[in-house]
Amino acid sequence: MLNHLRHVIEQTADIIVISDVHGIIEYVNPAFEKITGYSPDDIIGKNLVFFSSDRQSKKFYAHMWSTLLAGKVYRNSLMNKRKDGSMFHAEITITPLVDKNADITHFIATARDISDDIRNKIQLTHLVQHDSLTNLPNRNLFLDRLQQAISKAHHHHRLVAVLFLDLDRFKSINDSLGRTAGDQLLQQLSERFKKTIREGDTIARFGGDEFVILLDDFDSDNSLSLIAQKILNSLAIPFEINGHEIFISASIGISISPHDGEDPDTLLRNADIAMYRAKELGKNNFQYYSEAMTAHVFEYLSLENNLRHALERNEFILYYQPQVDARSGKIFGVEALLRWQHPELGMVMPNNFISLLEETGLIEPVGIWVLETACKQSRQWHQSGMGFVHMSVNLSSRQFNNNHFIASLQNIIKDTQVNPQYLELELTESMLMRNTSSIISALKNLNNLGVRFAIDDFGTGYSSLNYLRRFPIDTIKIDRSFIRDITHDTDDLAICSAIIGMTQSLSLNVIAEGVETHAQLDILKTKECHYIQGNVFSPALPAAEITRMLADQLLT
Ligand code: C2E
Ligand code: MG
Ligand code: MG
Repeated sequence: MLNHLRHVIEQTADIIVISDVHGIIEYVNPAFEKITGYSPDDIIGKNLVFFSSDRQSKKFYAHMWSTLLAGKVYRNSLMNKRKDGSMFHAEITITPLVDKNADITHFIATARDISDDIRNKIQLTHLVQHDSLTNLPNRNLFLDRLQQAISKAHHHHRLVAVLFLDLDRFKSINDSLGRTAGDQLLQQLSERFKKTIREGDTIARFGGDEFVILLDDFDSDNSLSLIAQKILNSLAIPFEINGHEIFISASIGISISPHDGEDPDTLLRNADIAMYRAKELGKNNFQYYSEAMTAHVFEYLSLENNLRHALERNEFILYYQPQVDARSGKIFGVEALLRWQHPELGMVMPNNFISLLEETGLIEPVGIWVLETACKQSRQWHQSGMGFVHMSVNLSSRQFNNNHFIASLQNIIKDTQVNPQYLELELTESMLMRNTSSIISALKNLNNLGVRFAIDDFGTGYSSLNYLRRFPIDTIKIDRSFIRDITHDTDDLAICSAIIGMTQSLSLNVIAEGVETHAQLDILKTKECHYIQGNVFSPALPAAEITRMLADQLLT
């Protein structure tokens, strides 16, 4: 039996040490040598005190010995030193052995190396508190630190700031280059941000393209502005991903405790609101939170919510604005213009909601509805003998970059049986500057169906003439802003003349938009620009009124 016991002790994976009542070591098992590096020769005859390490206090050991000498079992986990000086976490149990008279004769210590457990626990805590993509603190850890910072600052009458940062147009990078590239960009960005802020400041990733920065050591609002600007500036140099140069900017909202909130939730919400304001103000800037913003955001949110239901509630309607040949006074085409009949706000004009449609992605279903409705209308006019009318439809870049777009358009053409040669799609210059090779093939495919293309708002974008040769463009629409002052601003007149001259040499049609007065009309005529769209002839009107005008025209 004794022999059997001896085997058990020698083969057990845990450390076993036996000492006498004074702590003089009498026995150690093989696991002891394996774990600590000390051989029995090194250790037998030495006192247990030999293992004391300065990682535990004197009080710690005093408590241990008083427990043991009172004849009680002592359990704890502590740091121990190996022979090579390295440390390990051990979970120990020391049991006093007593004789018949209840006098302590020996101590038997067992110990287990729990370093791996502790390492796993630390790693787990790290995982729970960090974002796996960028290794930055995540929302959990950020909220913890923010709470601590607020309490500390309150105590010392200091300020805490939260900077809420959202990348501008990150989604389009994900969409065009793929998620993996998007992830790489986020990683590179994180490194830049880390270098930009000071070591003690916390930057966290809240998921997606949202980063949040905690600053609790700054002097005045002014130095906050400097930090925010520094972060925006850090994005000025493009990123390189898979050989692509990527430009990205960000919008930042700032809230400061205690003014803008005294708890983490309020501070974060207000910084988020300020960030939205920064987006509205043209992106790539930072804004401080102010109370007035809250009201504004509620307005914006309710508009967004309403907009989500507008399509199913049939609240959209198309108006049509005539395009007229000034020489004959006859309508040769119309432009379909979207209107939103809001139950309370009344008629909402597109400039108030198109960008919201784009941001929310709603532009895709709404754009399809616009195309369908315009094509049905065109077909109807053609069937009632007004086969000369061209139909122009505006496209947003988001719609155009969608791969399904061409297929959807083909279906619409088939279903509505519209004559595609009378369909003109209005694009903007910026749509053509991006992503050219895929755009060229998309345009050519549509062009093969007979569809024509116009450049809208010409002169306001890059005005690069290069693409006019590369793309199958038929029509240029001179932006309204050049027409407005054409009678007295010689620069505007010169620009209009140049655009008109260029379209002539490239054999393109040219339409002047937003012509309001006869004086403007006369100048355009002398410059040989005869196609006119503007209130001088007619504003955009409901389909029924256009039908009446077209019918009148047939009679004269
Ligand atoms: P746009 O394509 O440049 O359309 C011309 C705008 O000028 C229209 O504004 C039209 O009503 C306005 N306009 C025309 N003649 C005159 C004039 O003599 N004086 C003045 N002051 N304005 C004139 P609207 O309808 O408010 O549309 C604004 C913009 O919204 C459009 O500019 C277009 O970019 C966009 N949009 C309209 N409908 C759609 C649509 O169905 N899809 C997309 N993606 N965008 C649309
Ligand atoms: Mg247009
Ligand atoms: Mg325009």
